[in-house]
Order: sequence, then C-alpha cells, then structure tokens
Amino acid sequence: MSDATLKPGVVTGEGYNTLVNAAKSGGYALPAVNVTGTNTINAVMEAAANANSDIIIQLSNSGAQFYAGRGIEDGFKAKVMGAVAAAQHAHLLAGYYGICVVMHTDHANKALIPWIEAMLDEGEQYYEKHGKPLYSSHMLDLSADPIDFNLGECARILERMAKLDMSLEIELGVTGGEEDGIGSGFDEGADNSKLYTQPEDVLQAYDLLNPIGHFSVAASFGNVHGVYKPGNVKLRPEILKNSQSLVQKTHGTGDNPLHLVFHGGSGSEKAKITEAVGYGVFKMNIDTDTQFAFSQPVGQFVNENPKAFQYQVDPQDGTPYKKFYDPRKYLRLGEEGIIARLQVFPGVVEFLVRRTVFRVHLVQKGFGVLVDESTHGL
Ligand SMILES: [Zn+2]
Repeated sequence: MSDATLKPGVVTGEGYNTLVNAAKSGGYALPAVNVTGTNTINAVMEAAANANSDIIIQLSNSGAQFYAGRGIEDGFKAKVMGAVAAAQHAHLLAGYYGICVVMHTDHANKALIPWIEAMLDEGEQYYEKHGKPLYSSHMLDLSADPIDFNLGECARILERMAKLDMSLEIELGVTGGEEDGIGSGFDEGADNSKLYTQPEDVLQAYDLLNPIGHFSVAASFGNVHGVYKPGNVKLRPEILKNSQSLVQKTHGTGDNPLHLVFHGGSGSEKAKITEAVGYGVFKMNIDTDTQFAFSQPVGQFVNENPKAFQYQVDPQDGTPYKKFYDPRKYLRLGEEGIIARLQVFPGVVEFLVRRTVFRVHLVQKGFGVLVDESTHGL
C-alpha cells in the first residue's frame, strides 16, 4: 500500500505503482484495451467511467501509426507521433471522464527498439516541460531473442525510463497467436514448451531489473493472441505461481513480488482468469474482442440501411439519407459496441473491476488512497 494520492487523469510513477499494488492486493486486474484513434480511445474511457473503473489504454506500433494517420509518408515518424498524440489526448481528457488512465504501448520487438527510443526522446522533452512522463509505461518484447539479449536491452531501456518515473513491461516466453504480425509462431494444437515461461528466466529478470526500476512481466502460460476455437488454448496459471514462489524464496520477499501481465486475454475462461489474477496478474490485455464489438454494430447498421450507403437521396422516393451516412451516426454505434462489451468482459469488468468502485469514489472525493478491507470480497 502506498500513500500516493490518485486523481482522475493519466497516472504515472508512484500513482501507477499504487494502482498496480491496489489491483494485486484487491484481487482484480485492470483491463488494458488497445486503441487506434479517437473513437476507440474515447469509447474505452467512457466504458471505464460507466464501470467506475480505472483503465489501462495501450497502442501497438501500427495502432499508433493509424492514430497519426495513414497519410503521413514517413511511417516510422507516424508511429512515434501517433503515440505522442494519443497520450496527449488522454492527458487532456481523462480527467473529464473522472477516471485514472494508465497510458502504455504494446509489443515492441527487436526491430522496434528505435520506436521505443524515439518515444523516450519525446517523453524526456515532455517530462522536462510538465514534470511527469508522457506514458506510464512501454512494453519491450524481445522474447523471440536469446534471454541475455532480451534482458540486457530491457536493463538498458529501463535505466532511461526509471529517470522519467516510467515502468517497463517485458516478455519472457512467447505468447502464441498473432497480433500486428508479432508473435505469429503459434503452432495450433502443439504443446510447445516456448509457450510456457520458465521460472528460472523470471528470476534472472528480477535479479537484473528490480534494482534498476519498476517493471512488469508478460509471462506465457499457454495464452494466445486472437480468438481460437475452444480447446486450443490450454492455460496453465500454475506457471505464474511457480515463478512468484521462486522469486519469493530466493529474495525473501512478500507474496507475489512480481507484477504480472496476461496477454491474449480475449476468449479466456473465467476460472483461469481468476486463478491467474490470484497469482499476481494486475493487467489483462484485451484487443480482439473489442475490435469485433466496434465493427459488428457498424456492419449491422449498414446492412439494415443499404440505400443510405449508396445514395445521398433515395432515387425512388427522394428520402434524404444524411442522418444515416453522417459518420458520427455509425461511429457512435461502434463506440457503444465497445462500451457495452467492456461492461461484461469475463473476469475483468464483470466482477473483478467492480471492486474498484469504492476506490474510485474515494479518489473522486479527494480522500486519496484507497485500498482497505472494504474493497475485499465484494
Ligand atoms: Zn500481447
């Protein structure tokens, strides 16, 4: 527990740490939802506000590029500036939704190390001006590379981030499935040992990174990106427990010393999610389910009103279709799809995040923090 005071807005540094510890000790995970533009980021903030929940908002590199716009010719620059734009959007507006927002960037593999470094260049400038970082955290996913390279680079980047009160998310073991073309080595049906993180690797990461700064670990325990037919995903949350125990024994820490992240959360069983959360998972990534939640109502609206998407005015009876084809009409339907979906996400908003209700209300009333016995067992 920490005595940092949380106010609605983007939380970083000590405030971020407070949210992480509150989630772990309160037995819930914060949803981390991928966004790609103002429609999705606003929908996610509205969903969090409706659920009285705090939220983690994240962008992939291509999501950031899309945020900046496909028209920017220099794709690398767009990935950097789109990420900056999304974070500034959240810094400006999150407070008006009355929620705490963690701003984060998703998978960056070896080829994307320059993306992280360029975002840190921007982050340093922002820090100098505002006294806080632009992003709460970034992810560096070098799980496809040898572990010594993975951890060496994580240490180097974390040195820089720690000076900005930022946290680093790392990955050990490979999350199966595909997300933005990253992590596509999943062999369906195979019991691939790479899909399961080794506790010794987690200990090595803790030994190296804990003295440098705040970090979290995306561990692989059979989780996969995307949605697959039932039976292909064999989640083994005990892998997380074994990693926690090894670090705890070796360093004589308290329970669940590691901050763990659950990737590939879409379509997972509630019982396995609950079990994983009990082993120190504070962040649960959600992407694929919310993509469908946005697109499905838009598709339905177009199907139900086909003429409005072919003619400005009906060629037979002269009906004007402006109120149908105005992009705000169907984009709002997409936003409402995301908002509705996030209220019932199994294991996350549906019952776990409800435990934050008291907490957020306390924050809004300016009581500061926040986790006490009253938040347990709701
Ligand atoms: Zn992931």
